[in-house]
Amino acid sequence: MIWSRTRRVEISTKGELVMSNNRLIWLNSKIIPLGEATINVLSPTSQFGANVFEGIRCYWNEEDKQLYAFKLDEHLKRLKNSIKMFRMEDKYTIEELKQGFIDTVRANNYKEDIAVRQTVFIDGFGSWMSPGPISMFIAPIAKSRIDIEKVNGMKCCISSWERISDRNLSPKVKVGANYINSRMAQMEALENGYDSAIFLNNQGKVSEGPGSCLFMVRDNKLITPPITASILESITRDTIIQLAKEVLNIEVVEREIDRTELYICDEAFLCGSAMEITPVINVDGIEISDEVKGSISKEIHKTYIETATGKKEDYKKWLTAIYV
Ligand code: PMP
Repeated sequence: MIWSRTRRVEISTKGELVMSNNRLIWLNSKIIPLGEATINVLSPTSQFGANVFEGIRCYWNEEDKQLYAFKLDEHLKRLKNSIKMFRMEDKYTIEELKQGFIDTVRANNYKEDIAVRQTVFIDGFGSWMSPGPISMFIAPIAKSRIDIEKVNGMKCCISSWERISDRNLSPKVKVGANYINSRMAQMEALENGYDSAIFLNNQGKVSEGPGSCLFMVRDNKLITPPITASILESITRDTIIQLAKEVLNIEVVEREIDRTELYICDEAFLCGSAMEITPVINVDGIEISDEVKGSISKEIHKTYIETATGKKEDYKKWLTAIYV
């Protein structure tokens, strides 16, 4: 393993700075500079998106002088589930996945909020149906937590694209190829002047965002589609449900949601490890929240960040300290 921190910058022929290579990446048990972490262009991951992955956050706690990975065990369990459903060779134990993660973040010596992508992929020269050979990379990047006071609420459309379903390409599998469906929705939304999209599923009910789950507030109740509504089994969604019930004393209902309910709800937000809690203020051009970011959404975001950064003693069990 290489533990030194290599700071290198690549300059294009036009003299532009094109890539900062000061990040260290874990690739097949070696920790190497980003620029040296390359894959085979003919591999099934390259051609067919044959990879499963997780996006995991770590939050810096200045008082503890500690970096905490949030719900690392849950993410790695979901990664193993994706490997199983995608019928890939199950090469890594949870302990190996976890050690690789910790080693990579430590090697980079981050003392700030970060996001880490941990991707297990089909390498070699096979086809879309090859179960292996298996490779893995772990790639961290600096990413600050959202400032809910500054973030603009999003204007979303209901996508003309239907969410993939468990009968064709299961949204429960966090496989790279699934994101083509997300891409179609997101690109269309941007093209039409929206910030993002909300999918309906094959039953015509509200499903999720292109890379996030959805909650709405009606009459002080927090309502979210069930896990059978063609959604990813989101770790942030689980966290919000538990914190809303246990800490904020908010009633949570998991049930089908109609498109038009989004027009008349009091608040709505999208959630995920990357976007945390991001308010939605307008759907299909209809304003849904007169208070710009919604008070319950703000309260949930505050509690979520306090929990993820290690400020809530009762929930430190969800954190993995990176530095010893
Ligand atoms: N749905 C989709 C399609 C996603 O890509 C994500 C992001 N991983 C989520 C929901 C949110 O999942 P999580 O809270 O586990 O990050």
